[in-house]
Amino acid sequence: MSVKKIAVLAGDGIGPEVMQEAVKVLDAVQSKYNVKFEYKHALVGGAAWDDFHSHLPEETLNICRESDAILFGSVGGPVREQDTDKWCGVEVNSLLGLRKEFGLYANLRPAKLYPALAFASPLRSDISSKGFDILVVRELTGGIYFGRPKGRSGAGETETAFDTMIYSRAEIRRIARVAFDTARKRRNKVTSIDKANVLTTMVFWRQVVEEIAGEYPDVEYEPMYVDNAAMQLTKNPQQFDVMLCGNMFGDILSDEAAALTGSLGMLPSASLADGSFGMYEPGGGSAPDIAGKGIANPIAQILSAAMMLRYSFNMAAAAESIENAVEDVLNDDYRTGDIWQHGSKRVGTAEMGDRILKRLES
Ligand code: NAD
Repeated sequence: MSVKKIAVLAGDGIGPEVMQEAVKVLDAVQSKYNVKFEYKHALVGGAAWDDFHSHLPEETLNICRESDAILFGSVGGPVREQDTDKWCGVEVNSLLGLRKEFGLYANLRPAKLYPALAFASPLRSDISSKGFDILVVRELTGGIYFGRPKGRSGAGETETAFDTMIYSRAEIRRIARVAFDTARKRRNKVTSIDKANVLTTMVFWRQVVEEIAGEYPDVEYEPMYVDNAAMQLTKNPQQFDVMLCGNMFGDILSDEAAALTGSLGMLPSASLADGSFGMYEPGGGSAPDIAGKGIANPIAQILSAAMMLRYSFNMAAAAESIENAVEDVLNDDYRTGDIWQHGSKRVGTAEMGDRILKRLES
């Protein structure tokens, strides 16, 4: 039996509530798939501040260093308290701290529209009724967000501000490989997003991605300009499988794709390092407005655990069984408040977890 060590960082707000459901589901996977999960719980965000006066204490980092993957909840406090020491900079300190420490350069954000939730999509019904299943692979540590120089100079009418979009061959090659490897675990298609008609960096991006595409003759490859991609997402999202993007285009398009599902609280994400290490977390935040009420949707957290099984533990069958259990429960019409529709059965956090568990075990 293999043993996998998981650092469980539930964080703030609804984090601990939804994490409890994800652990429940992982527990069920253990016996079914002959694996043992060793959970090490650690504090992060505001939850760590009271004890450590840090959003990412060394104790937490050590637990993560000794683990095979991080399952992360969410961090952040009530909006009106953001300026207090406890909450100021909590997201940046926790998330960027972990990304930097573990070299998490590849961000995987699935945007899946379940036919059962098509009503929630802002797309026209003839487009949304078909559902879609897209994975945005976003480069996370380079590009214009981190390029130097950046700054401002001068004053008055001649004052200027500038950023630098820069990618090295090595950076493009490694994120492209993640996209093509991931496509092989899905529907074998990569659409690489660029702006090669205008930007030198993006001419280079396209050239390097094409070189990598040559190493994957079994994966369909297509380049697409970012402006066209933004439009195609709304007209024909079914054409996409994996969308490979640099940092800025990935930031924008992954949000657009997520919004098209109409249910942000349903979406997981992964941030991967070289090798199998990764951090897995829901797309949403700590939702302080509903924290402690037992009504948060645990599905994004549960699907984050499924991604962890697929990408860090190479347990695709177990991941798929969780994903299928989630879809079954949605088809059975059980809904938390955020995805509730007239006539469907309203359940709370724990009952949604129990329903998914039951389907998984059946
Ligand atoms: P949010 O995602 O926490 O909440 C937005 C809305 O979506 C709220 O109405 C909330 O109730 C709802 N929602 C979110 N997740 C839900 C779920 N699982 N089930 C049901 N409803 C859900 O975003 P926000 O309000 O902008 O931010 C709240 C706090 O979270 C802030 O402190 C912010 O900085 C932080 N935040 C953290 C992360 C992270 O930890 N990765 C990401 C985004 C925001």
